Amino acid sequence: MADLWVPGSTIRKFTDPKSPLANANMVGCAHTQVGSYEGSWNWGNQDGNPYALCYCRGSGELVSAWPVNLRSAANLEGNPYVFPIECEDVNPLYFPAWSLKCGDVPAWTDAQVQTLIETFAWWCIRFNRPPVLIPDTKPGRVGLAYHRQGVPNSPEWVTGNDKWSNSVGKCCPDWRRIAQFKQEVVPGVAALVNGDDMIEADFDRINAENLAVTRAEVQRLAQYLAKGESNTAFPAAAWSSGTTNPELLAAIPHITTIDVAALAVAIVAAMPPTQPGGEIDQATVEAGVRAVVPEIAAAVIAEIAS
Ligand SMILES: [Zn+2]
Repeated sequence: MADLWVPGSTIRKFTDPKSPLANANMVGCAHTQVGSYEGSWNWGNQDGNPYALCYCRGSGELVSAWPVNLRSAANLEGNPYVFPIECEDVNPLYFPAWSLKCGDVPAWTDAQVQTLIETFAWWCIRFNRPPVLIPDTKPGRVGLAYHRQGVPNSPEWVTGNDKWSNSVGKCCPDWRRIAQFKQEVVPGVAALVNGDDMIEADFDRINAENLAVTRAEVQRLAQYLAKGESNTAFPAAAWSSGTTNPELLAAIPHITTIDVAALAVAIVAAMPPTQPGGEIDQATVEAGVRAVVPEIAAAVIAEIAS
């Protein structure tokens, strides 16, 4: 699929080689960098180093460094299914000087908390994941997490967990941010996802944006098919740059395997050998199919909209 980026984020894509493998996006995970944004992006960019998919600056700006549909290297055994956000904690504009040791990580800024809420809410809606804290990092968990849950020998560690780090004793994102995650971020995400009145407008906006993209893409495919060109030539890149509608994404493999000419051949073959009005040839059937493709597309759009 095309690259998927968090809407509204600043895209600063890594230039060194990163994983091309698909990310199942089962768990959204918060991290703390023990560093500045600039330093962390550069560290992550270097081939072979750990890296997250997104970086949240002290200002609240979210920087996307690698597509959400691909894997990070921030959660070890969780990499195939975790969407990680790194967060800045060293920056004199936003944080007091600190020891860079566990127990001393400064709290997230209000702007960072807000960005985490909005980003994880988008992610939950986009992938249909529940806005809840997972109880542990055992395989198959779905929801939100902080890194320390998957660190061996951490206070949260239980037998059977996936290891999200080899650094025993790692406290990421440390107690202040863990408290914020539990008390502010997760409830804030839940309020957004569950359509709390105060943020109903945001929820509607996200859905409206998704639907607009969906409509445009289905209409484009309909025009393409109606022109008589083989859908197999429909360029993948023409699809869904920025598509965030899970129903459409699920439907795309089916839509894009419609071969109108082959369908017409199959219809003709399925007909009785003689018709009262005479034989109908494949070209006539194909023309008819192409004529109704826009109608079918309209029905698909209506279905998605309902
Ligand atoms: Zn971490």
